Amino acid sequence: MMGEVRVPQAVWEQLRATLLADLSCETKCFLLCRTLESDARVVFLAREVVPVPDEGYAQRTASLVETRPEFVHALLVRCAREGYALLDAHTHPWTTQPRFSAIDDRSDLQKFQTTQPMSPPFRHGSLVFGNDMSFEGRFWDYAREAFAPITRLQVLDMPPQTRYGVGCAPQEWATAAQAVYDRQVRAFGAEGQAMLSRLRVAVVGAGGLGSQIANALALLGVGRLLLIDPDRLELSNLNRVVGASYAQAARGWRKARALAQRLNRVRPPESRTITPLPVDVRTPGALAHLLGCDLIVGAVDSAVVRQYLNTVAMCALIPYLDAGVGVRSADGRLEQGGGQVQVIVPGATACLACTERGIRQSVEEQLTPHQRELSIRGGYIQGEAIPNPQVVFLNGVVGNLLAWELVKLITGCAPVQPYVYYDLLGQHAFPARAERNPNCLLCSAHPDSLLGQGLYGLMGYLAPPRAPKRKPIPAPRGQ
Ligand SMILES: [Zn+2]
Repeated sequence: MMGEVRVPQAVWEQLRATLLADLSCETKCFLLCRTLESDARVVFLAREVVPVPDEGYAQRTASLVETRPEFVHALLVRCAREGYALLDAHTHPWTTQPRFSAIDDRSDLQKFQTTQPMSPPFRHGSLVFGNDMSFEGRFWDYAREAFAPITRLQVLDMPPQTRYGVGCAPQEWATAAQAVYDRQVRAFGAEGQAMLSRLRVAVVGAGGLGSQIANALALLGVGRLLLIDPDRLELSNLNRVVGASYAQAARGWRKARALAQRLNRVRPPESRTITPLPVDVRTPGALAHLLGCDLIVGAVDSAVVRQYLNTVAMCALIPYLDAGVGVRSADGRLEQGGGQVQVIVPGATACLACTERGIRQSVEEQLTPHQRELSIRGGYIQGEAIPNPQVVFLNGVVGNLLAWELVKLITGCAPVQPYVYYDLLGQHAFPARAERNPNCLLCSAHPDSLLGQGLYGLMGYLAPPRAPKRKPIPAPRGQ
């Protein structure tokens, strides 16, 4: 089992300021976290830094730090009451390669054994930071009653930073793939390509736009791609869905399955890691897959689904890239067309709810049936009962604009543009301002916002668990 920590930008700044304020002696603080759990991984979502006041220290020297038991006890009570996990953090201010000392080993073991009865659901871990915020981390695996490593720390900055624990740097990039990606390595470097190859991306929507994006990400060598779309292919998709064949459309294949099959064929045998998931992304099963990804890409025409993806991204601290296209035409004359790409880093950029566009669309979808009909007739709602114009070149441009922002976000090879609009008739792409709403319920630093709330924040969105199926009563025998 392995651990990972995700920290929003503001929390990271506070953590740095707290830990590095005095490098003449060791400093301690605590991180209150939500957790996301799977069989192989525990993700700690840092919500709050709790510094230790002077009176909270029992001992504090250049090579030793200890907090008073009453201080820790009060924190544990709060964790139990509010459902938080706890990460102890302290510094080894003399080094850039911090390792837990023998004293740390003894004291962590003692602490974790004390809190073992609180787990599950409580999780307890510790981090030691050097003077440049390099770190080593571990948490208590209560099933094995042993330490498990925290290997990675993600700072949700713009662009996001991935930091690996001392001794946990990822393996060298497989040389077999180097020939395939040679021309790209020349564009954004071997380390940039390696970062793409380690990435797990969920692409939601495998239609005209989503298939363009998935195609670009597959060619770029993104490590794992999950294609989520419950829809089946129709003949009217064949003008724009990448990778779909006539035979598949005639047989009503799932879009996600057809796309995954095609894209896997392009890749070297060892990296055929493109997986279809032909279900509604809002089902709990799909959520577990979404939460396992490093990045979510949304290419859907439903405002409700986009808002859902935005909410998942905020709660789980996963960067989210959203794209959309639209064309309006009358009597064979194209009147309006364009698309947009928004890069959302939770807590660092505007989220979808911050931007008015998202709110307006969301409102439209919640109209009464009569209002909706009027709205559809008026051409205000897209992707609904009345088929809208859809053209491959617009999908191609906007899909690739998204792929480019994704590459910049991951490799850092150029500055990310948080919001780009492409105007089809004017033939130009331009950045637009997407302002953060300081009071946004989803992404602000407000204590009650959904930022980093994990499943707590998502509870209202999840369908209540279905009652277990009753086993049929066996028919009486011998009658
Ligand atoms: Zn927001």
